[in-house]
Amino acid sequence: VRVPPRRSRAAGRTPDVPDWAASERSNHRPTVWVSQDGAQYAAVCLACPDLPCARLAESEVTADLGIETSHTPNAEACPTSAVQQSDDGLASIDGDLCIQCGVCVTRCPVGAIWTDEPGQPPMLSERSDVPIQPEVTDFAVARERLSRSLPYAACPIEPGTMIAQCEAVLYGVRRSADPGALIRALVRNALQAAGVPVQLKNMGDNSAPCEVLARTPSALLAIEIQPSRDEISGVRRLLAAAARLESRYGMARDELVPLLVLESLPNSRAGLYELLEDVESRLGLHVRVLTVAMLVAMVNNPSADVDSAIKTGWRVSRTDNTLPRDFAELTGIEGGIAPLIGIAPAK
Ligand code: SF4
Ligand code: SF4
Repeated sequence: VRVPPRRSRAAGRTPDVPDWAASERSNHRPTVWVSQDGAQYAAVCLACPDLPCARLAESEVTADLGIETSHTPNAEACPTSAVQQSDDGLASIDGDLCIQCGVCVTRCPVGAIWTDEPGQPPMLSERSDVPIQPEVTDFAVARERLSRSLPYAACPIEPGTMIAQCEAVLYGVRRSADPGALIRALVRNALQAAGVPVQLKNMGDNSAPCEVLARTPSALLAIEIQPSRDEISGVRRLLAAAARLESRYGMARDELVPLLVLESLPNSRAGLYELLEDVESRLGLHVRVLTVAMLVAMVNNPSADVDSAIKTGWRVSRTDNTLPRDFAELTGIEGGIAPLIGIAPAK
């Protein structure tokens, strides 16, 4: 086995091919780079100095939502810190920490990480037969050029693969010492993958309006996380957030969209559904609902249109649940798996 030479962390390396023909990357199959002369190469890790598979860029961390609040500068993309940079600059994934959420796959701009085996952490291509320039001065430009030729494709996902991925993430959330923090990172990453700017509140900052804020073209999303599906505390916190945003930040009620993020939907007799209906009919606040499986689906398909979704979907009540339909729009998977992954209430 050829051991790659050690290289400076500041360098990165780029494929030594002048330009690239169109090709595709996705969460669920290995990416192939195609050069202009038709040669094909397995995608390989470029040892990016900024490690976008694991770290958010400054512009992503300091998103401008048009509202002044303090927010955390946490820049970790992987919700469990499973992606690290090895001494030679290549990314490496700790399979014991990985919960298989797919965030790192989506964030690698050149498709060097992928998942193709249900229930297994993503794979990382370390080397292939592609000619590599060990160091280039315009690394960012060269990577951008390669990335532009690799648009993201929401390729069809086998239902079995999708179930395994959702189960792995739910298992990771349930055994986590801090499930709320893990879901918060997933919320941030799923929305950012869809091009929605997000801010997380500074932990311990009791004056912050809510746990997560996000801005779509038509709305400010006030988001609270409720890891336990059998509680209703998340709805109470959303009411407080709405009151704060209206009274202290001057937000108009019709611009505000409260969003409750649950691990999964509680059973159909839970008080949550009735409470959501009361909040809407008595207070005029229509709370949207997402679950962990919906976040996984969004990570798998970053072309999600969040602005449309909050107008027509993400709705849960005793008589209506759009999550199976919303999930099908993102993944192409219809029907039967909804109760298995927590997007339909357990009986
Ligand atoms: S896995 Fe992708 S984003 Fe991460 S260092 Fe390698 S090429 Fe860069
Ligand atoms: S799949 Fe998710 S948990 Fe696993 S390494 Fe990637 S970002 Fe981290």
